[in-house]
Amino acid sequence: MTPAQVLAQFKKFGIPYAEYKDWKTHNRNHKGAWGPVHGLMVHHTGSDSKDQRELLYKGTADLPGPLCHFGLDQAGKIHLVGWGRANHAGSGDDDVLDAVIAEKPIPVDNESNTDGNSRFYGIEIWYSGTHPMTDAQYATLRLLAAAICDFHGWDEGSVIGHGEWGSPGKWDPGYKPGKMMDMDAVRSDIKATLAKGDPAPGKPEKPSKPAPAPKPRPGIPAFPGAYYFRPGAKNQYVTTLGRQLVKKGYGKFYKQGPGPQWTAVDRAAVKAFQLAHKELKGDADGYPGPLTWKMLFS
Ligand SMILES: [Zn+2]
Repeated sequence: MTPAQVLAQFKKFGIPYAEYKDWKTHNRNHKGAWGPVHGLMVHHTGSDSKDQRELLYKGTADLPGPLCHFGLDQAGKIHLVGWGRANHAGSGDDDVLDAVIAEKPIPVDNESNTDGNSRFYGIEIWYSGTHPMTDAQYATLRLLAAAICDFHGWDEGSVIGHGEWGSPGKWDPGYKPGKMMDMDAVRSDIKATLAKGDPAPGKPEKPSKPAPAPKPRPGIPAFPGAYYFRPGAKNQYVTTLGRQLVKKGYGKFYKQGPGPQWTAVDRAAVKAFQLAHKELKGDADGYPGPLTWKMLFS
């Protein structure tokens, strides 16, 4: 993601944020690789201090900043402190990285052989880890993870805790001294946030409702949003899209269906439609945008 894409996703997901100093160009890219990025790593800072922006921006004598990309204050606001390579992940286990890339269950970490700072976005949540984070922090964490996964087409399997990574002695994000949160439970909450459609901020125990379905107009139905057409998506719009593709002569892609589950078949059919139209050819990625939608239903 570029800084502009980060801000666009924050707006799409209603994430409260503030920009700190020159975060867009503040990084350690001169010290090592940055990207390809495969996931989001969750940390606690180990401190309950109310303003940790400068620490995360500047770092310490031993560990120069930025120390993450996203700082998360107690009220649930994200502070953007850097973009690019950041000192948050250290070395970890290549088996864990492979699992994150494949979005498979995370194996037990037993090695520190792989640079994580080039591979993960990092969020530092402002709390000690010896008690639970605030509800507001947890709600924003879920939204942030969903926003990042939504952008990249990832699922919740791309989110890990630092304590799962293979850096010795790490147990963040914690909920009591020395104890890491149940990250499988956190991932399943993130999955729920991702599945809800365009989410709005809300406490985890009271999930926000999905965006209301746009009213169909006679002629061209309203484009519901890119969110509804992504790996893992299952909704009525995927069916509507598939049926229209069949109508337009792309039925050969569908050995069965079309149905509500977004699959590689839908993507292949959309891509073929895009490649057949010069206005769409340049960005024929198989994911429908407003123009593809409009042309498909015209
Ligand atoms: Zn950490």
